[in-house]
Order: sequence, then C-alpha cells, then structure tokens
Amino acid sequence: MTSISRLKRANVRAVLVPLRRPIIAAIGNFKQWPLILVDLEMEGGTVGSSYIAPYREQAVLAIIAEIDDIVAQLAGRSAPFEAFQSAQNALNVVGVSGVSTLATAAVDMALWDALAKEAGLPLACLLGGSIGPIRAYNSNGLWRHSVDTLGVEAKELLAEGGFTAAKLRLGNEHLRDDLAAIRAVRDAVGAEVDIMVDFNQALGLGDAIRRCCDLDNEGLYWLEEPILYNNVAGYAELAKRVKTPLQMGENFYGERDLMNFLNAKALHYVMPDLMRIGGISGWIRTAGVAAAAGIQMSNHVYPEVSAHLLRVTPTAHWLEWVDWANPILADPIVPSKGQITALNKPGTGIEWNEKAIAKYGLKD
Ligand SMILES: [Mg+2]
Repeated sequence: MTSISRLKRANVRAVLVPLRRPIIAAIGNFKQWPLILVDLEMEGGTVGSSYIAPYREQAVLAIIAEIDDIVAQLAGRSAPFEAFQSAQNALNVVGVSGVSTLATAAVDMALWDALAKEAGLPLACLLGGSIGPIRAYNSNGLWRHSVDTLGVEAKELLAEGGFTAAKLRLGNEHLRDDLAAIRAVRDAVGAEVDIMVDFNQALGLGDAIRRCCDLDNEGLYWLEEPILYNNVAGYAELAKRVKTPLQMGENFYGERDLMNFLNAKALHYVMPDLMRIGGISGWIRTAGVAAAAGIQMSNHVYPEVSAHLLRVTPTAHWLEWVDWANPILADPIVPSKGQITALNKPGTGIEWNEKAIAKYGLKD
C-alpha cells in the first residue's frame, strides 16, 4: 500500500490586489482585495496551494497566526479529511465559526491540492467526477453605484465571457432605487437574461418582507441575503411570503448551518463559500445535506476550486464567476459561452504568478 506524503511546513503570504470594478455594497466598499496565499510543503516535495480572501486587510495577521497554529498541529499528517476533523476538534474551544474555520479551510484546500497532485489528477477527478463546464453567472460588477452606469456595465459583463446571467446588488434605502437599478439592467440586457439580486443583509425583517414582496413580479432569478445571515426565523417568515426563491449560505459555517435553515424551511437555494464552509472537506459534507434535501447548490466566489466541486455536487446549480484572484494566478480560468471549466491539470489548478505576488505583497 502506498501512503501519501506528510505535511512538513507551510509558507503563508498575503497580498492586496486591485479590483477591476471596486466593490460597493451594504457589506462595505473595497477598491483592493486582501488574499492570504498558503503553500504546504509535503515531505515528498509536493506543494499544495490555496488562497482565501478575508475581506479585511486588518484581519490578515490574526488569520495567518491561526493557519500557522493549525499547520504546527498537523505536521506529519497527510489525509485532508482526517486533518480537517482534527483541526475542528482542536479549535472548537476558541470558536468553531470565524477565524478558526477560515484558517482550517485554507489549510484544508491546500492539503486536497497536494493529494490531487500526488495522485496526478485534477481535484474533480480525484473525487470521482470529471472536468467539464458549469453554467455560470458574472458577479464581477453591478455594485451599488450610480444607476446611470448599470445598463452599460451589465452589457459589458455579459460580453466578457458569453454570459447569460449576472448579479445585481440591491438594498438601497428606498424601494424606488432598487426598482430603478433592476429596470436599468433589464432594459439593457433584455428579457432572456437571468438577473440574480443580492441585498448583502441590508434590510430589517419588516422592511425585507415589504421589499421582497414588492419585487416579486420583477422576474428576478433569486433574492439573496435580504436580512442578517443568521436570522433563521426571519428567513422562514420571508420564505413563506415570497414567490421568488431565497438564496443564501455564503455565511454558513459548516453543514449544520444549512441543516438548521432546512429544518426551519428558511431558504430555497444554497451557495456556500469555501472559506467559511470549511474548505473542500466542509463543502463535501454540505453537498450531502443539500442533496438529501434536494436543495440546489451554487458557490460563493472561489470559482477556481468551486468549478471542480460543482462537478461532484449532486444538486449543482450555478457557478458564481469572479476574477478577483486573477492578478496573482499563473493560469487564470477564462470564461467561455457563459460557462466555467476547472483547469485540467493535477490538483486544483491554483499556481502563483510570483512576479505579481512580489508587486502586491503585504509586508508585516
Ligand atoms: Mg452575496
């Protein structure tokens, strides 16, 4: 029996990359995007790589410290599933959600990358699937900026990769402004294009009931995170009242968060974020819960790894396409015909553009 090589040491770096279209949303405004880059060196010489994007530049050092802590605990281990369980057990005393899971996810994704590289297989194939296209929507723009610019930008976003769907950010103070944004996009792109809308938790429950019902006849594909992400009873109330499906899950920490929402009949679609759901191990668990419930599952950002995982997700739905890590990737994915296909090479396909990392590197 052959054994996979064991974890030896980590090299963890951080960069601050420019965003082509700055984020303007209820969660905040960002012109640059911090990324933590993890390289795990295995005893056999294989290097497993991953990145996470923790939004806040100020949080980078705390998360790197936790990654270093986990790697020190896992030195000499190899199997990602066991490593994940071990890290979760060790860290539950300081909180399962938050920094613990973000750090665990970064290590988990790099360990799976190393395992797939050692097997000589793309991640999707290692997991029993195949490399192939996933239907995608362009999520790179349509932030909450001037309504006058939304129509032109919507057309640009569709043209960037033959997309037939895009996401628009809402949650303005007044219904009339949300309606104006929707109509600006709809007028520009026509009736056939799917428009997903995201409120980024901007509304209180009562306002959300009113707003979502008012928007129910706008032909929107889904209503994403109208209220605070952890208000299970609030989402259950909304789910009873709206006709347009409710989408959420980017703030779920592990499969049990999904289970709790399912038990409360509080969502119609789910879209886990690899950094918060617990990396590839966390995704696999969550995909099982979604499959059992028949809930269609998309991803939240991290398109490079999600494009592998959606190929082995029984209820795979849409891939959210963002190009935010492209500046530091050696071989970024190129969208085609509105679809995203994971790179057909061993591992997840995440390899660094070292010149760019030197340029955008965050110094301690
Ligand atoms: Mg969202």
